[in-house]
Amino acid sequence: MRPASVTAVETLSPHFRLVDLEGEALRDVAWGIGQKVQVAMGTGLTARTYTPTSWDADRGRTRILTFSHGDGPGSRWASGLHVGDTCQFFGPRRSLDLSGIETPVVLFGDETSFGLGAALRDSPPGGGTTYVFEVSDVAESRPVLEAIRLGEAMVIERTADDMHLAGAEAELARLAAGGAHFILTGKASSIQHMSRALKTAGVGSARAKAKAYWAPGKTGLD
Ligand SMILES: Cc1cc2nc3c(=O)[nH]c(=O)nc-3n(C[C@H](O)[C@H](O)[C@H](O)COP(=O)(O)OP(=O)(O)OC[C@H]3O[C@@H](n4cnc5c(N)ncnc54)[C@H](O)[C@@H]3O)c2cc1C
Repeated sequence: MRPASVTAVETLSPHFRLVDLEGEALRDVAWGIGQKVQVAMGTGLTARTYTPTSWDADRGRTRILTFSHGDGPGSRWASGLHVGDTCQFFGPRRSLDLSGIETPVVLFGDETSFGLGAALRDSPPGGGTTYVFEVSDVAESRPVLEAIRLGEAMVIERTADDMHLAGAEAELARLAAGGAHFILTGKASSIQHMSRALKTAGVGSARAKAKAYWAPGKTGLD
């Protein structure tokens, strides 16, 4: 467990916050894009998982972008954070291994993937990445994406029947034809949908990496 202090909190919208965590235990840490941290919620064993957008190992500082979707412990933790608060977390730990990923890259995900998108944007393989996000509220998400310099992302609003995925599927199939490599993150069922679509489009497993960040009815996926 690494203890850390909250040194900055920027509320980007009602549900999104950029949070800086800093501490001695964050110095000299080897971090890679796509890795995760698991933040302890209170004193028990409960933890919630987030994706660092950056890690300054000299200064001992990392940043996460939290999306508070509702009323779970993670959502409440992120919504209630103040500068000066302390927390403990495991990690960084391996999650998506993006070392050696070939370009051009396409990231498909949702609100929980914006942090990964921000990390990717600043990385060598990330230049020229295409971002496709399904979101619950386009009007809220657009300015958040602008703020983290992902304003060019394609943003698709969810529909109750998941019909919106057809639009994302068509876009991914088009990009697949151009030889893209895919990173699929976010909601488990959407990842499954996109994986099937990519397979149909002839994209083999070597060209697609996937990691579910949440699933309806499940808690605290890591
Ligand atoms: C490797 C990894 C990296 C992640 N990185 C990030 C990140 O950088 N930023 C971030 O905000 N999240 C990230 N997540 C997702 C985050 O950990 C989950 O959304 C988590 O469930 C939130 O905790 P909670 O306590 O608010 O909800 P929980 O108590 O875990 O979930 C309660 C219920 O809420 C629903 N739910 C969970 N997540 C969502 C959601 N996003 N949208 C709608 N409904 C939801 C489900 O039905 C679930 O059963 C990541 C997850 C993983 C596994």
